[in-house]
Amino acid sequence: MTFRASILTLYPEMFPGPLGLSLSGEALKAGLWSLESHQIREHGLGRHRAVDDTPAGGGPGMVIRCDVLAAALDGAVPADDARPRLLMSPRGRPLTQGRARELAAGPGAVIICGRFEGIDQRVIDGRALEETSIGDYILSGGEIAAMVLLDACVRLIPGVMGKSHSGDEESFEGGLLEYPHYTRPREWEGRAIPDVLNSGNHAAIARWRRAEAERLTRERRPDLLKE
Ligand code: SAH
Repeated sequence: MTFRASILTLYPEMFPGPLGLSLSGEALKAGLWSLESHQIREHGLGRHRAVDDTPAGGGPGMVIRCDVLAAALDGAVPADDARPRLLMSPRGRPLTQGRARELAAGPGAVIICGRFEGIDQRVIDGRALEETSIGDYILSGGEIAAMVLLDACVRLIPGVMGKSHSGDEESFEGGLLEYPHYTRPREWEGRAIPDVLNSGNHAAIARWRRAEAERLTRERRPDLLKE
């Protein structure tokens, strides 16, 4: 079973974009996951293939029509498709490492990228779209948010990172931020690598890393310690 991503967007040419390079790109070429993007505008109305209209009740901007988006969604994914249907949205449930793990363990995701002011609420309700946010700021569209979500998931798909790197010690995995890293040279601009890391004492190194992870988390993200 491979992880299948289906994207609905007004800018399919943005994909795979950065996901076609490096770790996620190699995994894509190796068939460890797949990606297809669908142009919402193919289901647009009239000669101009309109996908948006003015907001009911007035106000600035444009809203993506429910009928157009539903037609695009129904045309791209069968109704019995088991994958979660995610709508990238700043109002959504925040994406976390835990959610990325859950998604990576599943069959993939259908991801809808918003534009303009957003999407008619009726298609969110009528197609049970799961609103997902990548953080408390506003992007101009859902495409980059979808790439963030996919990048976080793809590296967790079995076989993508390789056995030597389980990702278990990464920030957020143990509820802590990660300890600091060092590599050669041993001294640089008068700064030395902490002695313990050159000691060869694996227990002492593990204790130091744990203490540093706790210190950084306490200083920078005390909210993580409460959870
Ligand atoms: N008017 C909306 C913002 C629209 S931004 C509001 O205030 O909630 C346009 C599109 O960008 C959204 O439909 C969504 O798909 C995407 N987007 C913007 N910020 C995002 C975020 N933080 N997380 C995920 N998607 C986001």
